[in-house]
Amino acid sequence: MDLQEYQLLTRKTAIYSQDTFLEYLTLGLASEAGEVSGVVKKYIRKDYDLDIAKDKLIKELGDVMWYWARLCDELGLNPEEVMEINIDKLLNRQVKNTLQGDGDDR
Ligand SMILES: [Mg+2]
Repeated sequence: MDLQEYQLLTRKTAIYSQDTFLEYLTLGLASEAGEVSGVVKKYIRKDYDLDIAKDKLIKELGDVMWYWARLCDELGLNPEEVMEINIDKLLNRQVKNTLQGDGDDR
């Protein structure tokens, strides 16, 4: 499955008001990122081993991706363009030796 196909399929399970899509999807993305952190926290706490953590992370990272894809779709953003802009930004920082540090404009 490619990214655009995935993005189109997320429409089938998108249940939220168009009036508040930005708030809903942004909060959902943050919430799912928190669930990723929760899995890692429980792994560190030794609630389960790495294999079980990976099984859980597959699901939670997929949830993160769903909200990310929905945000891209609702905002009319091409997800592949978002990825390209991101990797270009990071590679540019690498060239300038500014990968580490703070701030968006490095
Ligand atoms: Mg989840």
